Amino acid sequence: MTIETRTSIVWDYAPAPESADHIRLKDRYGLFVDGEFRDPRDGRYVSTINPATEEPIAEVADGGPDDVTAAVESARAAYPKWAALKDLERAKYLFRIARLIQERSRELAVVETMDGGKPLRESRDVDIPLAAAHFFHYAGWSDKLRYGVNAPEVEPLGVVGQIVPWNFPLLMAAWKLAPALACGNVAILKPAETTPLTALLLAEICQEAELPPGVVTILPGDGSTGAALVRAPGIDKVAFTGSTAVGRDIQAALAGTNTRLTLELGGKSANIVFEDAALDQAVEGIVNGIFFNQGHVCCAGSRLLIQESVRDEVIAKLWQRMGRLRLGDPMDKNTDVGAINSAEQLERIETLVAAGEDEGATRRTVSCDIPERGYWFAPTLFTDVSPAHRIAVDEIFGPVVSVLTFRTQAEAIEKANNSRYGLAAGIWTDKGSKAFEVASALKAGVVWQNTYNHFDPTAAFGGYKESGFGREGGPAGLRPYLKIVR
Ligand code: NDP
Repeated sequence: MTIETRTSIVWDYAPAPESADHIRLKDRYGLFVDGEFRDPRDGRYVSTINPATEEPIAEVADGGPDDVTAAVESARAAYPKWAALKDLERAKYLFRIARLIQERSRELAVVETMDGGKPLRESRDVDIPLAAAHFFHYAGWSDKLRYGVNAPEVEPLGVVGQIVPWNFPLLMAAWKLAPALACGNVAILKPAETTPLTALLLAEICQEAELPPGVVTILPGDGSTGAALVRAPGIDKVAFTGSTAVGRDIQAALAGTNTRLTLELGGKSANIVFEDAALDQAVEGIVNGIFFNQGHVCCAGSRLLIQESVRDEVIAKLWQRMGRLRLGDPMDKNTDVGAINSAEQLERIETLVAAGEDEGATRRTVSCDIPERGYWFAPTLFTDVSPAHRIAVDEIFGPVVSVLTFRTQAEAIEKANNSRYGLAAGIWTDKGSKAFEVASALKAGVVWQNTYNHFDPTAAFGGYKESGFGREGGPAGLRPYLKIVR
C-alpha cells in the first residue's frame, strides 16, 4: 500500500480589492473658505492623480495670493466668537468632527489610498482611526487647557496657518487642527498638492458638524500657496510639517516677526538591534519601521544599526521577510507596499539609491512584479554602508534601509546620534535597564523600545536638531497653540 503525502502546498492570497463604489467624490473641489466651497480667484484648478494608476481622480482648486488674503480675512472675522465660546461648547464641535470621521471612515480610507498610494490596510487601520482619535483626545483637553500646560491663565494665539505634507494627509491635518481648535484658535490649513482630497472631505465634515464659518479653512494649492500663507499679514502662528529645506525657508521668512513657529521636519532615524533582542520580533519591527507607508515616514527607521555578533542572522531573517512583502495595488487588502506618492518622489528615491551604489554600498532589492502603470519602488536593503555614505546621511523617504553595525553600546549611541536629524529612534533589547540608559543618551524626540512607528494621540512627537522644534500630541501639543498669560 502506498500512502501519498503532500510535501508542499503553495499558498497564495486571492485578490481582495476594496470597492470604491461607496465613496462620494465630486469631480471638482474649490477652496473651503468661510464655511463654503468657492472657486479660486484666478480660476485655476489642477488634477490630483492616483499614483498607482496615474489616472486623474478629481480637479482641485489651486489657491493663489488673493485666495490667501480672503482666507485670512474670513478667519480673522471668525476668531473672536470662536475664542470666546465656552470651553465645553468648543469641545462639542471637536467631538462631533471625531464622530463624523468615524462614520465616514471607510470612505476616507479609500480616498486616502487612491490619492496617496498607501495600502488600504494602513489608511483603514492607522491613518483614519488615529485622525479621529486626535480629535477625541483634544476635545477632552478643551476645558482643561490650564492643567495641560500647568499655568493659571492662558489665551489662544489667534489665526494659525498650517501646512502639511503628502505622507499622512488626513492624520497630519488632525494633528494640526485638533489642538489648535481646542485651544480656541482658528486655522487655515494647506494640504499637499499631491494629496488634497481627504482634507477637502474633512471640510465637508466641518460643514456637517456645523462648525462656524471661518473656524477651519482648507486652502489647497502648491508650494507658492504655502509660501504666501506663511507670509500673510494677520497670521499669528505657523505650524509646518515637511522637508528641512522648506522649514528653513519658513524660519528665515518669519525671523524678526511676531509670528510663532513650530517645525516638524525630516529624519534619518536609527533603529538599534542589540544582540540580546528577540530577533524575530526585531525583524518585524525593522520591516514596520522602514516599509510602512513605503518609507514615506518622517520618523522611518531608515538607519538600521545591528550589533556585529548578530548581524548575519538579522540580515538573513530580514531579507527572508522582505521577500514575503506584497507590493502592488494599494486597494488590495493584502498589499504591504503600495505606490510611491509621485513621479518626483520616485525620482528622488532612485537618485539616492544610485548614489548608494556609486559610493560602494551593496544593494539588494526584492524581486517582484512591478505594475505597468504608476510609481513603484521595491523594498531595498543596503549593506556595507559607511556612516559617510549619502544613503546613511540623507532622508530617502522611500522603502530603502541602510544597515550599519556596532560592537558596543557606546558605539551604538555615538553612531545613532551621528546625524544632523534627531526625530526618532528604536531600541531592541531584552534588558530594560539598557533600553533606558540608551534612550536617555539618544538625541531623538521619540524613542521606541521593542516596537516602532507606534503613534498615540496622548504622546508627544517632535524633533531635535534639524528635525525641527515644538511638539505635537498629548498635553505637550497644547503649548504651541497657547499664550501663557501667567
Ligand atoms: P515639502 O517640504 O516641499 O512639502 C511639504 C508641504 O509644504 C507641502 O504642503 C508643500 O506644498 C508645502 N510647501 C512647499 N514649498 C513651500 C514653501 N516655500 N513655503 C511653504 N510651504 C511650502 O516636501 P516635498 O513634498 O517636496 O518632499 C521633499 C522631501 O521632503 C521628501 O523627499 C522628504 O525627504 C521630505 N519630507 C518630509 C516630511 C516629513 O514628514 N518630515 C514630509 C514630506 C516630505 P506642495 O505639496 O504643494 O508642494
